[in-house]
Amino acid sequence: PTFEPDGKLVHYDEGNYAPDAKKSDRIEATLLALVRNSEVDDMVQSMQDLERVWNNKFNYPWTFFNDVPFTEEFKEKTSAATNAKCIYEVIPDEHWTKPSWIDDATFQSSAKVLEGKGVQYASKMSYHQMCRWNSGLFYKHPALKDTRYYWRVEPNVHFFCDIDYDVFRYMHDNNKTYGFTINLYDDPKTLPTLWPETVKFLADHPEHLNENNAMKWVTDDEHRPQNNHDAQGYSTCHFWSNFEVADMEFWRSKAYGDYFEHLDKAGGFFYERWGDAPVHSIALGLFEDASKIHWFRDIGYQHIPFFNCPNSPKCKGCVTGRLTDGEAWLHRDDCRPVWFKHVGMG
Ligand code: GDP
Ligand code: MN
Repeated sequence: PTFEPDGKLVHYDEGNYAPDAKKSDRIEATLLALVRNSEVDDMVQSMQDLERVWNNKFNYPWTFFNDVPFTEEFKEKTSAATNAKCIYEVIPDEHWTKPSWIDDATFQSSAKVLEGKGVQYASKMSYHQMCRWNSGLFYKHPALKDTRYYWRVEPNVHFFCDIDYDVFRYMHDNNKTYGFTINLYDDPKTLPTLWPETVKFLADHPEHLNENNAMKWVTDDEHRPQNNHDAQGYSTCHFWSNFEVADMEFWRSKAYGDYFEHLDKAGGFFYERWGDAPVHSIALGLFEDASKIHWFRDIGYQHIPFFNCPNSPKCKGCVTGRLTDGEAWLHRDDCRPVWFKHVGMG
């Protein structure tokens, strides 16, 4: 299938989802995973879950990304877990290496300070690189040139509920940009200057603010149980991005491109520990029409320590409505009610 310039889908061979069909009913979309060779068994576990509940019916291709080449073992084990096509890609250096304007000594010293404040992974350079790549670079990979939608899948996640419809076609036909399952508050110590930089950006680019934005959601920390002083105006509520189903046209837009470039130059991917989840979420909340953001209440999902577990006979292996089977205090991180309060059920 292709899209005409007005965005209309050209429907090929309706109902044909055979893995190797030249013309199928699939949308230009892929399952997408950034993953290390050492995580192959956890990746296979995630694939088996998603294949079982959904992809065995639709056979969307899997695209795997890595900063080093995938091993034969990785390729063999993952391609054996699906009937669909598997694509293995190395990330170009210029998308992964720390950018030239980031000063190494400043990185080291700020990492020490953050670590002293309990910020996890602060001195792990590859974690910063990963967050930056997931924020503003993955969709520029040449292998995704002709792909519009993706479903991000991490190793060692779980899917619990049978899904009988083409999720990508749902996104397209209902004009959705972004789909999520879980909404959480972030650790404000990871992003003290993210909101101030965003405010600066908005002052320079008021034209990017969407008429039907979710600014109220982005800034509402009234019900946040913990002190949020460090976040300087951002609630830290974000779509938990280890799950995302999204339209890359949004990331490829002028608004998002300008925003990412501003943030990248500001340095917070390295001098602080900005995650791709708050960056994506703020951008969606400000530059996208809030009605184009969709809660997949029907997709049962777990990335430790949180669940989305619907009340449905289609779900097996999770407890309805339970957010976590971790410690009780983890419940304070749930901010889905704030999304529903401001934006409705999407
Ligand atoms: P967390 O969920 O925030 O604890 O972060 P993860 O360790 O799960 O990392 C997020 C995703 O990025 C996972 O899919 C990892 O496999 C992947 N990832 C993180 N760092 C690297 C890296 O240095 N190289 C590669 N290839 N993948 C990475
Ligand atoms: Mn993870």
